[in-house]
Amino acid sequence: MNIAEETQILDAIGKWLERDVRPKARELEKKDEYPDAMVETMKQLGLFGATIPQEYGGLGLPASTYAKVVARISEVWMSLTGIFNSHLIMAAAVARFGTEAQKKAFLPKFASGEVRGGLALTEPDCGTDLQAIRTRAVRDGDHYVINGTKTWISNGIKGSCFALLVKTDPNAKPRHQGMSLFLAEKGPGFRVSKKLEKLGYKGIDSAELIFEDYRVPADRLIGGVEGKGFHHAVGGLELGRINVAARGVGVANAALKDAVAYAQVRKTFGKPICEHQAIQLKLGEMATRCEAARLLVESAARAYDAGERCDMEAGMAKYFASEAALENSIEAVRIHGGYGYSTEFNVERYYRDAPLMCIGEGTNEMQRIIIAKQLIARNPA
Ligand SMILES: Cc1cc2nc3c(=O)[nH]c(=O)nc-3n(C[C@H](O)[C@H](O)[C@H](O)COP(=O)(O)OP(=O)(O)OC[C@H]3O[C@@H](n4cnc5c(N)ncnc54)[C@H](O)[C@@H]3O)c2cc1C
Repeated sequence: MNIAEETQILDAIGKWLERDVRPKARELEKKDEYPDAMVETMKQLGLFGATIPQEYGGLGLPASTYAKVVARISEVWMSLTGIFNSHLIMAAAVARFGTEAQKKAFLPKFASGEVRGGLALTEPDCGTDLQAIRTRAVRDGDHYVINGTKTWISNGIKGSCFALLVKTDPNAKPRHQGMSLFLAEKGPGFRVSKKLEKLGYKGIDSAELIFEDYRVPADRLIGGVEGKGFHHAVGGLELGRINVAARGVGVANAALKDAVAYAQVRKTFGKPICEHQAIQLKLGEMATRCEAARLLVESAARAYDAGERCDMEAGMAKYFASEAALENSIEAVRIHGGYGYSTEFNVERYYRDAPLMCIGEGTNEMQRIIIAKQLIARNPA
């Protein structure tokens, strides 16, 4: 992708954000209402196929361009990126590990947004320790029968197809060899049990999904071979982490921009608060965090695009950029004083949205452990 093409995509998204999203985001988020009209435009913009290869109808964007798209959208309303990101991780699992028949059957429909969904890994009793999942798939002729519960699944209500992580051999040692990933479409035996209420990240549906004797055709097993599911699921997490990091960049930038604007108009003791050193120290730190987070995301995305191992880089970007979003959002609230606590301004939303980025796609505790392990592996004594 050359610079002109990237600019064209970012410009089209920028126009849509200013025209349709910015004027509506606060109202929809307050009502926790799904942005149906925005989703229609997102289809037209090609966002549901952003990273799907062009031969299957997607835009085939490199991670570096995709990260800029995500950061740009997150600066206006972070929730929107969740509607296509876990969908694209599901698609990436098919594109990277699926059979040719699975790619042909699913990727064009994913790319157009006709079929949308996400990733169903987490269960009520486990998230970080994914190998402890209990959802079970048992072979029955040319089908598998699945029983279990998944929770916190983004797009769980509005989506219709999910990359579902199950145990095909609960006694396997090591545990991951007994795990498989299926493409599960909604139907008999697969139901949404509840919508989950959240601190932030409103508008997008997070749900608990229940599988009761759900029958899925055997040819929906991604790659067609049992025991590879853990590898397939975590294989998408590097891109997922770059995406979460890009969301962090967007929210950190939004908080900085709002704070810079407000600090110039709010006056105390006869001068704009941006002339008080205490506020300048905050703005200086916030701007530096934004720039550092952006550069870490760029460097991780570049490594990903070059096909290099980048778990350490993606981990660093995800960890730093999400913490930057959290720190910048609370500083923006402080700079806004009492108005920062008001729902009339956007900064309280950034403050409610930011913690999600510290938890999703591997908690920040785990990111630091991943970084440290890679550091040791790459620097043997
Ligand atoms: C809004 C939202 C959307 C989500 N969307 C999805 C989705 O679409 N699909 C999906 O599958 N999941 C989704 N999740 C789930 C998310 O991925 C998990 O919440 C996350 O992985 C953490 O798992 P957990 O909640 O079970 O926490 P736990 O694993 O129980 O962790 C609790 C705490 O212990 C720490 N911890 C755990 N193990 C270790 C260790 N070995 N060393 C050090 N610290 C440790 C964690 O860092 C954390 O601080 C979503 C969550 C939220 C809140």
